[in-house]
Amino acid sequence: MLTNKEKEYLKLAVNLAEEALNKGDQPFGSVLVSDKGEVLFKDHNRISSGDNTKHPELHIAQWASVNLSDEERKASVVYTSGEHCPMCATAHAINGLGKIVYATSSEQFREWQKEFGIEAGRVKPLRITDIAEDIEVIGPVKEFEDRVKKLHREYYRK
Ligand SMILES: [Zn+2]
Repeated sequence: MLTNKEKEYLKLAVNLAEEALNKGDQPFGSVLVSDKGEVLFKDHNRISSGDNTKHPELHIAQWASVNLSDEERKASVVYTSGEHCPMCATAHAINGLGKIVYATSSEQFREWQKEFGIEAGRVKPLRITDIAEDIEVIGPVKEFEDRVKKLHREYYRK
């Protein structure tokens, strides 16, 4: 069970996903929170730039590498609207970040894509723990499912 505070951070991540959608980007958003509950950094997907690697989770891992100590990185938590893709999970692990709480899983995302008639990408939809077993992961969180799915449906409709 998540605390209300944790749900608030997740909601912030989903709000960022909605912001991304409104800017023509894929609806993914992520928030980095310190062990004291302070929002350190947040971002949303920016692939409309043409660079398909502009994922918020990758940006968080890169930001943390230059702004946080090893201990701070390990103690921080990433809240994200969708589970990390293999690229971002790798960056997260390599840069020594801590726990991840995601609203919806990569498996759910793939199921939705099928439902929307979208072909699978070239990267396998591996789970975060397939990339790094020692990352503590919480998700998916049922109450966010409908809202996140709706955002993705709208993205593919455009
Ligand atoms: Zn990613």
